[in-house]
Amino acid sequence: MTHASAAVDQPIPVQIPLREIIPWAVFVGILAFVVLYFVSTEEGATALFSGGYVHEFVHDGRHLLAFPCH
Ligand SMILES: [Zn+2]
Repeated sequence: MTHASAAVDQPIPVQIPLREIIPWAVFVGILAFVVLYFVSTEEGATALFSGGYVHEFVHDGRHLLAFPCH
């Protein structure tokens, strides 16, 4: 049995400068906090929207993430 030596192309990692990542990381972080607010705190005295529609829309998510509800 012979071993054929074939040149295997190694993947070259792409370098992404940190300067290009930071604005997107901040943007995604802000979006994550907004979503976390609506899932966790949007009800009662802290509600931004009246009527409880947002609370009912994310209600299953509240229970899934173990936020107190009822
Ligand atoms: Zn509930």
